[in-house]
Amino acid sequence: MARLYLLLVLIKQKPTVSKPAHRSARARPSKTRQHKAKGSLLDSPLFSIIILVGASITTASAIWMFAYYQSRPDPAPIVALTEDADTPKKQLIPQILTPAIMSTPSEPIVDDYAIPPAEDGLAPVLSTIPTTQPVVFLGIDDGAFRDPSVVALMREQHIHASLFLADSFLGGDYAFFKQLTELGSVVEPHTLRHDTNMAVKSYEYQKAEICGMADIVEQQYGRRPTLFRPPGGGYSTTMRRAAHDCGMKAIITWIAKANGGSMQYQYGDHLQPGDIVLMHFRPEFSDDMHAFLDAVNAAGLRIELLESIPGAM
Ligand SMILES: [Zn+2]
Repeated sequence: MARLYLLLVLIKQKPTVSKPAHRSARARPSKTRQHKAKGSLLDSPLFSIIILVGASITTASAIWMFAYYQSRPDPAPIVALTEDADTPKKQLIPQILTPAIMSTPSEPIVDDYAIPPAEDGLAPVLSTIPTTQPVVFLGIDDGAFRDPSVVALMREQHIHASLFLADSFLGGDYAFFKQLTELGSVVEPHTLRHDTNMAVKSYEYQKAEICGMADIVEQQYGRRPTLFRPPGGGYSTTMRRAAHDCGMKAIITWIAKANGGSMQYQYGDHLQPGDIVLMHFRPEFSDDMHAFLDAVNAAGLRIELLESIPGAM
């Protein structure tokens, strides 16, 4: 309508120019007609007719243009073609899928190492992962301290860890750790009774401790566990065999600890790529976690799941 009004104003100002202008933008009015437009013609009935005809043509043009633009094909296909050419669509898809990928423990994050298969029926023992990638692994043990602040901190800091739980610490409160598995953590067995002298006991005893807890973990959390951490960290050939026979891909110990609100290292004074860190569900959980996070940030590492390593599942 603004276009129509503008044309009407132009007609009023330059009546003889308006008509050819609508027929062809290139048409130029002759000097003769311009001279004739001035003078008595301005107030004559002929002028009114010209105005009416001009207005009619303008209105018809406006209606035709409106109809034309309405009936044009939707411009979306042109945009889609442009997107295909520049691949913004392909960039959007991984952005949408990223959270799902990150929460999937089977997604590999180390491409220069895989947990070796068992030799002679003995599960391998790992205290660190020999990788050059800037990753660190956290295992949180036992399960005695089950405070809502633990869940809040894990959620707030986006931490996922391997939770090595021993049944004797849990008091049947399996539901507490479901809150952590929902945040991306994975539950693994740490035996039924947390016997720190089990490594020197019989194969049957050790197998019952490891398999028994693995069964509970599978029953409660819906996933057959694959990594075992021995109580106290001691292991033996008998334990390696029992762990393998319970379906464990590896025995996981540690090379550094977050303990009593500070970090303790077996070698050096800082975290290295591939280090496995030990922590516990204890009342000082928050202090330990902050000490761990400070060490992770100082070393420029990122926290990944042991279960993401090729061969761990
Ligand atoms: Zn323990």
